[in-house]
Amino acid sequence: DVILHNDQFIREEELVISKEDRGYQFGDGIYEVIRVYEGNMFTAKEHIDRFYASAEKIKIVIPYTKDVFHKLMYDLVEKNEINNGQVYVQITRGASIRQHHFPIDAPPVLIGYTKTVERPVELMEAGVRGTFIEDIRWLRCDIKSLNLLGNVLAKQEAYDKGFYEAILHRGEVVTEGSSTNMYGIKDGVVFTHPTDNLILPGITRSVILDLCQEAGIQVQETAFTKTQALEMDEFFLSSTTAEVMPIIEIDGQTIGDGTPGVLTKKLQKAFAEKLNLGVKA
Ligand code: PLP
Repeated sequence: DVILHNDQFIREEELVISKEDRGYQFGDGIYEVIRVYEGNMFTAKEHIDRFYASAEKIKIVIPYTKDVFHKLMYDLVEKNEINNGQVYVQITRGASIRQHHFPIDAPPVLIGYTKTVERPVELMEAGVRGTFIEDIRWLRCDIKSLNLLGNVLAKQEAYDKGFYEAILHRGEVVTEGSSTNMYGIKDGVVFTHPTDNLILPGITRSVILDLCQEAGIQVQETAFTKTQALEMDEFFLSSTTAEVMPIIEIDGQTIGDGTPGVLTKKLQKAFAEKLNLGVKA
């Protein structure tokens, strides 16, 4: 495999990262994960737009146009002959003597690599279990920051207790998952937290909301509480890798009849159909 280092394709053994790279020392950078289905990057434009938006929010200037960046991602996928998999790409504020304020003339450091990933079809069929965990993250969760400690600690706590995902809440309000967006369905209406500073605006989330519209399923981008979550008819999460993933149980309480819900399955089907239509990168 080759990896991308700035705009150069190199072998992993050739990669040198400074001990004072700010990504390494401060988590001072942002990232993206783009899904590849049958050799095509899915919703590449949306991911690239979010990558640039995240960078801008933390005042990192990406030294390539979006078109050049897109081509770099495309070439990375092609060179590594990725059929079903993903691209991981991050950019940090570069390397400089360790001090908190921004370095004056350190160029940002971009790294991209690919891996093969299969769709989690068995889990998507069976559904997964979630657990409520207090959302202790900062107030700019809209930025896809490399600082993932709040997410990591939540996911670990969920894993330790045997759950697939942490369902984060600030006080009573459900925000999102540790690496996913959250949805509840009540009386045919899909509820999900609005895209503000408290959640990441998931690309899969926007695809799903479009699919709801196309299927005539009502959506309310309104936050709901933990209590309301437990009373939902259906519950699911979404992400680039998890797609539409039913949640059938929260902290031991079954949601609906404890199996993936009707509308959730409908959305899974619509999502899968959309993949076959995947526009070439
Ligand atoms: N929320 C958080 C905190 C995430 O880290 C992610 C993705 O990794 C998501 C939501 C889902 O976003 P996407 O659908 O763009 O993968």
